[in-house]
Amino acid sequence: MFGYFGYNLQEIKMLVDVAIPNTKFDYLTYETDLDLHIGDLVLVPLKKKSKYGIVVATNVKRELPGIKKIQRLVEKSFISPKLLSLYKWISSYYVSYLGEVLKQAFPPKVLKRYEYIKKEYEKPQKIMEPAPTYQQSNAINRILYWIRRNTFKVFLLFGITGSGKTEVYLKVVAEILNQGGRALILVPEISMTPLLLKRFTERFGKDTVAIHSALTEKERRQTWYAIKNGVYKVIIGPRSAIFLPITDLKIIIVDEEHDHSYKEHQMVVKYNARDVAIVRAKMENIVVVLGSATPQIESYYNAGIGKYELLVLKERIDSRPLPSVEIVDLKQEGGKFISQKFETAIEEVIEKNEQAILFLNRRGFAPSLLCPNCGYVVRCPYCKLPLVYHRGIDRESVSVLSCHTCDYKTDYFKNCPKCGKSTLLYRGAGTQRIEEIVKKIIKSLNYNDKQDRDSLILRLDRDTVRKRGEAEKILKKFEEQKAKILLGTQLVTKGFDFPNVTFVGIVNADTILNLPDFRGSERTFQILTQVAGRAGRGDKPGRVLIQTYHPQQYSILFSQVQNYPKFYAQEMKLRKELNFPPFSRLILIRLSDKDEEVLWNEAKQIYKLLGDIGGIKIFGPNQSFYYKIRNNYRVYILIKAPIKFEHRKLKFLRQIKLNKVKLEIDVDPIDVF
Ligand code: ADP
Ligand code: ZN
Repeated sequence: MFGYFGYNLQEIKMLVDVAIPNTKFDYLTYETDLDLHIGDLVLVPLKKKSKYGIVVATNVKRELPGIKKIQRLVEKSFISPKLLSLYKWISSYYVSYLGEVLKQAFPPKVLKRYEYIKKEYEKPQKIMEPAPTYQQSNAINRILYWIRRNTFKVFLLFGITGSGKTEVYLKVVAEILNQGGRALILVPEISMTPLLLKRFTERFGKDTVAIHSALTEKERRQTWYAIKNGVYKVIIGPRSAIFLPITDLKIIIVDEEHDHSYKEHQMVVKYNARDVAIVRAKMENIVVVLGSATPQIESYYNAGIGKYELLVLKERIDSRPLPSVEIVDLKQEGGKFISQKFETAIEEVIEKNEQAILFLNRRGFAPSLLCPNCGYVVRCPYCKLPLVYHRGIDRESVSVLSCHTCDYKTDYFKNCPKCGKSTLLYRGAGTQRIEEIVKKIIKSLNYNDKQDRDSLILRLDRDTVRKRGEAEKILKKFEEQKAKILLGTQLVTKGFDFPNVTFVGIVNADTILNLPDFRGSERTFQILTQVAGRAGRGDKPGRVLIQTYHPQQYSILFSQVQNYPKFYAQEMKLRKELNFPPFSRLILIRLSDKDEEVLWNEAKQIYKLLGDIGGIKIFGPNQSFYYKIRNNYRVYILIKAPIKFEHRKLKFLRQIKLNKVKLEIDVDPIDVF
């Protein structure tokens, strides 16, 4: 073939751009005489090492000195050009480098090629599939109509808890599989949604795969390859599953779309999988279904202006009534953590052999320790925040004081280290303390039983689920009714369906409200409504008690009547007044450094540079809510930009030399402090 068109090999050399995972650039240009295409996996030299990379452009016309040669082609069409466009979009929207996006897009070391294994699930059981209700049919038909048209479309499936959303997903997915398509279902956290997973595997058996946090790195890679090779048709995963290479994808379902775990908090590219899902669907001309009982304000707004189509499931299946919700004003309770009403409700549950879920968004025994003599509060030496007291669970384990921000730990001490005159007092209550109080309540009950009373309560928070599989164990015990009370943090608010739960108690609703954040009310409404929705899912009606010091706050009042549209209307007034999303776009720049002075100087410098960008409002630099974490000072600058703002205007921030100060850019931040 040499010289076929009258060229020799020297002349058909081509320049290509290659993106390399885990680098701080978009791509590097290389030379090659191979026939390469966009999406190919290649091996390239980089700083005396060989690296895997993905071809992102061919036939590049660019004169560059010292261009290196591609070493070899590893795999053709490793990633589809469409998926690559998505990765590129993510990098530009979230003001990051393509190399950083690729790092987060692939499981570790996946580029080194691994054979995949096929995991077998049991055959689908013949299960009773309920006939859809009128409202469910309507939703299913609307979604399938758009799937048949192969067009981009976003639905917001707004249905209260227990209204049959999951059943809608199942029916739609079944039809897609009939037509030879595939479905991606995003869930906030698999270990917290065992029920959803069970229902999907029951119906679709070995076509289903779930990406668990319990998978090893190797299993993760194998699963990735299996999905790429089309082994599975129904893929269920957490936020990172949005990066997966899935062919014939027809639908992306985002269950509990308001959930904050869709947002990446830690890594450089702080994407929101819900929003990326919509962009991916647009690029692939497919359908997205966002499901929630408490949509994020922005999503409901988009449905209101016709960008999304709203599908409503108004009633609970079998017209099961919503639980009755009562508010207890803690100001009237004389400093008690558990009011009389709350106590009575717990007693009734135990006596009637029913179950209860108790929620408190705070771990540990007491959130701070105070000296009654000199007023000293025990604080983290690195963050200056009060240390949380964690009591040892038995004689052997020691009590510790721990910083919930940086994880600093120290042994508990009884006496005030400052004045030495008094024993430190516990202030406030965390789940551990509430557990103790509830155990006392149960102990004092007068009834005949053989079971050890302490085993009637289970605690589910980060402290009790440190080991893998521990959360599943606790939930299973509760499901099998071996315990009557499930007490915990946010973990208990997820979409469980325990039919025997008749009482849900919110120990203190103010823990969420008190964050200095424009989403405080929204978050409070969502969490209260979600956790209240766990009550009365079976035949027996449910009851909810919300304890608070702010009984008049609108998010608490509207969650009492479980009226999302009313809450939305009220919240939108404030958002409009303050020009917060959905009326603007927020971009947060977080800066941190050990040297306070250097940090503020750099922050002011950046503030100035931002001033050159027209059309945006810049606030700050301000101290972050957690001003000092692990000896690092933290400040932030908030940008309010118009909806159509071009994010590439901020890319220069990634390139400027900062006196070693760490800079993070958070587009559409969840926490604004
Ligand atoms: P959601 O996802 O909105 O919380 P689910 O889909 O889990 O609601 O439905 C709640 C309960 O009602 C589940 O136990 C489910 O099996 C049952 N269910 C759903 N749709 C129907 C139906 N059409 N007929 C009878 N039962 C149904
Ligand atoms: Zn700390």
